[in-house]
Amino acid sequence: MFNISVLQEPDRLEAAVAMLHENPNLRIIAGGTDVLIRLQHGSAGWSELLSLRNVHELEEIRLREDGTFEIGAMAPFARIFEHPELRRHLPILTEAAVSMGGPQIRNVATIGGNICNGAVSGDSASTLFALDALLKLASAEGERIIPIHEFYAGPGKVNLRAGELLTAILIPRSSYQGTGGHYIKFAMRKAMDIATLGVAVVCRVGGGAFQDLRIGLGVAAPVPIRCAEAEATAVGRPVTQDTCRELGKLAVGRKPVVPNRKSHRAKCRQGRRFHDDVDDAEKHEARTLDDRQNWLAVVAHGRDRKCGKNRDQQNLQDIAGGQRVKKRRRNDVEKKIQRLFQRWRDSCWPL
Ligand SMILES: Cc1cc2nc3c(=O)[nH]c(=O)nc-3n(C[C@H](O)[C@H](O)[C@H](O)COP(=O)(O)OP(=O)(O)OC[C@H]3O[C@@H](n4cnc5c(N)ncnc54)[C@H](O)[C@@H]3O)c2cc1C
Repeated sequence: MFNISVLQEPDRLEAAVAMLHENPNLRIIAGGTDVLIRLQHGSAGWSELLSLRNVHELEEIRLREDGTFEIGAMAPFARIFEHPELRRHLPILTEAAVSMGGPQIRNVATIGGNICNGAVSGDSASTLFALDALLKLASAEGERIIPIHEFYAGPGKVNLRAGELLTAILIPRSSYQGTGGHYIKFAMRKAMDIATLGVAVVCRVGGGAFQDLRIGLGVAAPVPIRCAEAEATAVGRPVTQDTCRELGKLAVGRKPVVPNRKSHRAKCRQGRRFHDDVDDAEKHEARTLDDRQNWLAVVAHGRDRKCGKNRDQQNLQDIAGGQRVKKRRRNDVEKKIQRLFQRWRDSCWPL
């Protein structure tokens, strides 16, 4: 069923690094939720695997003395969602973790695999961008730490050097202390679906004004992006609906180039369904622009404007069970945004 010719299973990081160094053909397998699917489809083009399953030091999640969170690359999403310190200090990350797949997938899929597969739809990507996360990489040459935005190189491509593996994700205290924020995943279904748009907003507010605003978008371009113009404009501006509307315009106003959309559509059935949605979205673009701005205001304020419900109080367990309750107005806004962003997603399809 799976064409696996070699399976190495080291139990220490040094051994894993040495094996990778000796055999550059080895492909890392973490949770295997992507790797095994590629092997099963026969699209992999490689058959020698290095499993990190027994390298337990890579599963640790710890809060260092200097306040930096160090999340091991092999930490599964279920553990991230349940981790009490992460829930307390980085609820945006636990929100992203629980929006990912279903319970079975979250039990095995790792945050490291989610980053290293380079998928722009990865649920951790936009959140880690907004959190200014750093990545710790190890190889026989030693260790290096790089900002996450330098890691993504294109759809499905990451800047991982030969013989290198991701060991941990670092989130310094200065990136999260005193901040609030949310991750919202827009998808075609309420659960068990990949994002058609992933939005993470982290902000620090003082004296009624934005001191810091960071917006991470997934599936809005070939790699996850930050909205630099909106972020810079926000600093010092009062937190009002008008400001949020303006920031919304800046955040999503520019359209990335969509390469060769038609050939993507020809390749996959779902792409054809998106085509209709895109046409529809184009007709309604003027109306949708308003909604996009409303939506950013909703995210920045952390509340549903229409029903006045504080998203902080939303029961994450409900989200985990795929039973997220949404008000009708919220659904309408989300559907329109989804249609609009299909166009952008086409550029990254089939990721
Ligand atoms: C049913 C289903 C639902 C899914 N739903 C979602 C979803 O809602 N949201 C979402 O984002 N994804 C989803 N996925 C995709 C997948 O589960 C995630 O991308 C997952 O996080 C991958 O992690 P993994 O540990 O399984 O990685 P693997 O499949 O083991 O590896 C993925 C890639 O990363 C590389 N890699 C892994 N770890 C390392 C490391 N430490 N260093 C260097 N390279 C490494 C591997 O070589 C491989 O190229 C879904 C998948 C399935 C099958």
